Amino acid sequence: MKFGFDIDDTLINLREHAFHLYNKKLNKNVELSAFKALNTLEIHEPFGLTAQEGGAMWNSLAEEIYYTTCPAFEGAIETLQQLVKDGHEVFYITARNAEHCERTKDWLIQNQFPVKEGHFFCGMKDKEKIRIIEDLQLDYYFDDKPAVLETLLDVPTKVFAIDNSYNQELKIPRLLSWFDLQEIIADKKPGL
Ligand SMILES: [Mg+2]
Repeated sequence: MKFGFDIDDTLINLREHAFHLYNKKLNKNVELSAFKALNTLEIHEPFGLTAQEGGAMWNSLAEEIYYTTCPAFEGAIETLQQLVKDGHEVFYITARNAEHCERTKDWLIQNQFPVKEGHFFCGMKDKEKIRIIEDLQLDYYFDDKPAVLETLLDVPTKVFAIDNSYNQELKIPRLLSWFDLQEIIADKKPGL
């Protein structure tokens, strides 16, 4: 089967990684509970930053956010490796800006994610992901972002939301742990 994955906050814990970097950069000690309570994708609010200041902060730290030690979610790397071992196809579909595409692909490879030539799509807008998902005729697709997920309500692909505080409004199946994926494929466990 064909599996498609968003990267940021789907396979890797990027916002939390950025949250720690914000604390360091601003010399603050905002607690993780403030992060976990956020119902927005953006993380600037607990630091007392405006949206504009938050955007500037993200851009100034983009190198560190994207290319240092952002951890994968538990089980994500092993699960994708196993899918490939089992003969499935794994595709990545990330809306990171075009300037980050090549290095993002390299970062995935360095971090043991299985990346085949031609299976990495990058630099599109959120609303353009659907075209790639349909063209590839994916069996499954996983993403965390409401702006993407809400465009995918009527596709034949089985779409799952990666469970997070900012996407609770969406009434679609959700994935709580990458360790659940094999059971979901086997239809032993429905998404919640
Ligand atoms: Mg994402």
